[in-house]
Amino acid sequence: MSRKITAKKGLEIECKGWEQEAALRMLYNNLDPEVAERPEDLVVYGGIGKAARNWEAFEAIERTLRNLEKDETMLVQSGKPVAVFKTHEEAPRVLMSNSVLVPKWATWDHFHELDKKGLMMYGQMTAGSWIYIGSQGIVQGTYETFAELANQNYGGTMRGTITLTAGLGGMGGAQPLAVTMNEGVAICVEVDETRIDKRLDTRYLDKKTASLDEALEMAEAAKNKGEALSIGLLGNAAEVHHEILRRGFKIDIVTDQTSAHDPLNGYVPEGYSLEAAAELRHGDPKEYVKLSSASMANHVQAMLEFQKKDAIVFDYGNNIRQVAHDAGVEDAFDFPGFVPAYIRPLFCEGKGPFRFAALSGDPEDIKAADDKMRELFPDNEKLLRWLDMAQEKIAFQGLPSRIAWLGYGERAKMGLALNEMVANGEISAPVVIGRDHLDSGSVASPNRETESMKDGSDAVGDWAILNALVNTAAGGSWISVHHGGGVGMGYSLHAGMVVVADGTDNAKRRLERVLTSDPGMGVARHVDAGYDIAVDTAQEKGVQIPMLKE
Ligand code: NAD
Repeated sequence: MSRKITAKKGLEIECKGWEQEAALRMLYNNLDPEVAERPEDLVVYGGIGKAARNWEAFEAIERTLRNLEKDETMLVQSGKPVAVFKTHEEAPRVLMSNSVLVPKWATWDHFHELDKKGLMMYGQMTAGSWIYIGSQGIVQGTYETFAELANQNYGGTMRGTITLTAGLGGMGGAQPLAVTMNEGVAICVEVDETRIDKRLDTRYLDKKTASLDEALEMAEAAKNKGEALSIGLLGNAAEVHHEILRRGFKIDIVTDQTSAHDPLNGYVPEGYSLEAAAELRHGDPKEYVKLSSASMANHVQAMLEFQKKDAIVFDYGNNIRQVAHDAGVEDAFDFPGFVPAYIRPLFCEGKGPFRFAALSGDPEDIKAADDKMRELFPDNEKLLRWLDMAQEKIAFQGLPSRIAWLGYGERAKMGLALNEMVANGEISAPVVIGRDHLDSGSVASPNRETESMKDGSDAVGDWAILNALVNTAAGGSWISVHHGGGVGMGYSLHAGMVVVADGTDNAKRRLERVLTSDPGMGVARHVDAGYDIAVDTAQEKGVQIPMLKE
């Protein structure tokens, strides 16, 4: 069985309150064909990141949300609703745990075994926690990453540089737009033509070609003219990258967003068409993983070669270095991950991918919210520049939404302002506020968000769990704990948070608490690891850290 789900808009609700309705609409939104990568299989993004375990579980979630009272909480275990308990009106309406395995069993092999038996699903990050908003959700982070790279290396602009990357999926599809927003040229290698077409349709990508010659010619011409351009090149990165090296073509920046975190479902081995790969994946999964891992090793070797030729090379959070390392590439970790290289200072201030979606479905509501952000944060130049670009270049997918990296203090301010706008009618219906799990205080992921922590605490998972606990205590609307998102089984623990602004006093109290504790965890985590920016932030903004010396 499979159903076609579309985002639900408008002011009429079918649940017993807006909070339950919000969860239902965000579940639908995650599976809207404009938003999800393979909605027929409940797959939202990131390899096999799903919104519900199967269609039966999906319908049970729908039913339960429709009947859920304002003082009840539904529990969801890896995409299946398993219980409803009476709690209270300021408690979360939904609590979720996705793909969490006991550490010794936390491998893809064991996960696949359970998945086959219908006992688990892979929740990725925002797929299983119903706060994915399409590629926009990652655009600003990707934009900030490239902007920081440009600041550190090119005086603030990528103009006149060529970036080579691969993967134009749900997240990776943000790369071409983020590069062109920074005025650079991007060649994005993608093995699946339908993904290239999707990015062209949503205006994230400028051009498409199946010819390497043509891609290189277009890139060179744009670079020489100082023009921004993004090119989707149909091909397999493990092959194309070596061919570019062989030709001696100058590449300035190299990264990657294939779904390397999932060697069975996320990476196509070299020499295989999509159809042949699907057949092998089904027929002989072990052989598939062997071949895809070998191709990733080859791919990383090409990245290392580019680095030797003075390109700036970094891992973009898909764990490709680890897979290559396990397949025998000893120096796979010679290039850094993007968090220690470009993002950590932001995390120290509790800054991260704050986002919200208008449940009305009316783009005017997001426009009003954008204007409010401009009014509240007139000195935040980066944010203002981002909002101008986003309004001009970002096509909404599903429910209109906005991503805006805000820090400690700013998030609570914006959340309360949104609640007030809903209350006084400036925004026509409640707004859902959440964030990616890739945030300052919600994730333990030693090859990504917590790579190379100053005190060596990369693998300490307590922080992600504490994040979910405090956000539950503070009264988020739906709170989740996940394992394996971003980088795959065994490599990460992380927590999600969503809180609904419906204009009520109940929401006001909860927004203030959750939008303070959540980024506050980011500040606390980085204070504990010894980062000066975090210590300054805590002292300046009054985050209470019991053992922080004055
Ligand atoms: P996705 O599964 O939707 O897309 C991956 C794409 O890679 C697909 O379109 C696939 O066809 C393509 N691909 C696979 N093998 C290829 C090959 N050999 N050559 C060229 N293309 C190939 O995944 P996504 O949501 O775009 O995420 C991509 C990766 O980035 C994941 O590992 C994800 O966990 C990670 N990620 C990173 C961030 C970040 O901020 N850096 C955030 C979220 C996810």
